[in-house]
Amino acid sequence: MVYIINKINETIHSIWPKSAIKITEDILNKKPSYILTLSKNSRSRRFKEPLNKYRINIAQILFVPHNLSGKNLCPNAGICEKICFAYPGNPGRNQFISQLNRTLWYHDDFSGFLTKLIEEIINFINYCKRNNYYPVLRLNGYSDIRWEEKKFKCKDIKEVLEKKNYNLGQYRYKIDNRKIKSNEINNVETYLQKRINLSLERNKNRKFTDDDELTIFDLFYDILFYDYTKIPRNPNQIPSNYHLTYSYDKENAKKSNFVLPKNLNISVIVTKDLKKILLKEYPNILIDGDAQDCRILDDINNPSKKKVILLEYQKQNFHEPKVEEVAFIEKEKFIEKFKNFLN
Ligand code: SF4
Repeated sequence: MVYIINKINETIHSIWPKSAIKITEDILNKKPSYILTLSKNSRSRRFKEPLNKYRINIAQILFVPHNLSGKNLCPNAGICEKICFAYPGNPGRNQFISQLNRTLWYHDDFSGFLTKLIEEIINFINYCKRNNYYPVLRLNGYSDIRWEEKKFKCKDIKEVLEKKNYNLGQYRYKIDNRKIKSNEINNVETYLQKRINLSLERNKNRKFTDDDELTIFDLFYDILFYDYTKIPRNPNQIPSNYHLTYSYDKENAKKSNFVLPKNLNISVIVTKDLKKILLKEYPNILIDGDAQDCRILDDINNPSKKKVILLEYQKQNFHEPKVEEVAFIEKEKFIEKFKNFLN
């Protein structure tokens, strides 16, 4: 334990040299009171406005990324290990400790963690129903876990489902179409409903028997999920209600076995100036990833065409690599790298 605590403190200090956070044994392993953070309570305030317009509400799990907890949640992290979005200057002490304890809970008692997660997802869905929101889930807020491989048996979650009055296979999140809406909002609603219908169709004959093995995506098959990932996947490994965006990393791209996945949209960090130029030149192919964070919406237009999502480089408040190691600065190099997407 002492070794782990020392390691965590060392890592905290290397990321935030001025941080006053010091982890001690007595604050570790205290289960946080909640697992999901709603987008309305998250730090990403800049994203709230457009998503509110579409009545989308995102709930996400915020862990501490990479190996900050002593156990690695991001097996394919490259340069992002040093510039992860989870490191926005000095974090608040309470928030950091609750993220750390949430991560340890996930590692040490997955079954207890899962039960609480399911309970919170049901609460979230009910909240969205009452308030006319589309519930959307992001399980890898600051992590890169293959949730589609995290299986559990129906009988192991029965108790929590009964407690929440949730019937397996009978639950439907039906969108309550608003009467007055613009074409833009109409397009978003139609697209979300189409994706949900696809998942409903694929699961319609599914029998939920006690020994049936499920994932979170099976359990909530009428709800949409999305994540960024650095782990390429075969298309048939991705559940129909799960949208993944591959997160390009300059360090990973240097590895000899690196191959750019063809079946996923790609997010790429570029400088502010380059983003402006590129969006002007390729308005139908490139997407401003900073305009909103619900990556599912990137596929509304021309869903079969893979897109490149541009994310603006933002310097964090601590020592980090040079900008060119993280972001694209030159248009020519960007075009050369992503020419297959741009044609
Ligand atoms: S893989 Fe994602 S969550 Fe993990 S360190 Fe990199 S950017 Fe952060």
